[in-house]
Amino acid sequence: DTIQIHTKSKNYPVFVGEGTLQDIGPFLTHHFPKLTKLFIITDETVAGLHLEKLLAVLEPFKTTVFTAPKGERAKTFEVYYNALSTALEYRLDRKSIVLALGGGAVGDLSGFVAASFMRGIPFIQIPTTILAHDSAVGGKVAINHPLGKNMIGAFYQPEAVFYDLELLKTLPIQEIRSGFAEVIKHALINDDYFYQWLSSNIDDLNSLTLEELSKSLTKGIRIKNEFVSQDERETGVRAFLNFGHTLGHAIEAEMGYGNFTHGESVMIGMVFALKLSIEYRGLSFPLQEFIQWVERLGYQTKIPNHLSLEKLVTKMKQDKKSVGETIHFVFLEEIGKPVLQEVNDADILERLRKFLK
Ligand code: NAD
Ligand code: ZN
Repeated sequence: DTIQIHTKSKNYPVFVGEGTLQDIGPFLTHHFPKLTKLFIITDETVAGLHLEKLLAVLEPFKTTVFTAPKGERAKTFEVYYNALSTALEYRLDRKSIVLALGGGAVGDLSGFVAASFMRGIPFIQIPTTILAHDSAVGGKVAINHPLGKNMIGAFYQPEAVFYDLELLKTLPIQEIRSGFAEVIKHALINDDYFYQWLSSNIDDLNSLTLEELSKSLTKGIRIKNEFVSQDERETGVRAFLNFGHTLGHAIEAEMGYGNFTHGESVMIGMVFALKLSIEYRGLSFPLQEFIQWVERLGYQTKIPNHLSLEKLVTKMKQDKKSVGETIHFVFLEEIGKPVLQEVNDADILERLRKFLK
């Protein structure tokens, strides 16, 4: 499957399938005849599992590899600085290309390296997680500052995305769960039909078939792209992608990044947002069935006991989109029909107590 992404600054293809790694070499030769060198950025885990395969298909090219620590630790100033130092030491130039081999963290780091090295050189994403279907589309690249996640970054589009499903086979189950929560999110905010398909076909995340994975990723990418590209026309719909994230981000931060994956936190946030959608917006939705389904998939649907609800509410109020004593939520009026609403903090605290403990 190939999805064409259209943005103001660039159009680029996303290739999804088994063995798409093989197509990278021909793509480079065809589109970048003057290419000098490839700069592969990956992390320690992915390097151990998949780097050799990539190097094998890139045999004809000069390559330099930079290996970052895994996870969020790839997105520090120090790692960013080291990546740039490597690029300079190995004399990469403006005709060089950055290849990001890894999940969203590697993608964010690599994209920012590519955006800033010599004022910008091309980059190509080779996502190795399900979550990266979300991060590989939308053009946001960033590293973290000690005072805030993703605070230092740019909008920078890749030349292409090669999603090789072969590489996803080594994903640990928590990472599958993390990414799949965003697939479910994309269905809920945009496509009832896709949501029905997911909930009646996906019953075990340990044994996703290639077809299931491929459909989930392509659909997810198309939906993400639809919201992002509409926002280039300034309609504000990009905010709908935050469904489940108001509470999700607060849980993730309070748990400490890395203890609970992003998607696992967002799933609890989605359960809450669905419940509130029923109460505030008259959404008609079988929430109990939904909860049973996602629990079968291995998600938690309650807030971990040791977290303080007051602290979660404080965190939600710090969200950059919230104003004063109200908290900014994305609700659904129907599946596929998101709306924005401000809710006051006391209401939220009371409802958290009632539903999620
Ligand atoms: P990640 O890159 O940290 O990957 C998660 C973990 O899985 C890491 O430990 C990694 O080493 C491991 N891993 C990756 N591929 C693997 C494979 N094939 N087999 C085994 N292990 C593998 O993160 P992620 O979950 O993919 O993405 C999260 C990051 O993405 C966050 O930093 C977040 O801020 C960012 N993000 C960015 C956007 C955006 O629009 N730019 C959107 C969503 C998320
Ligand atoms: Zn998310």
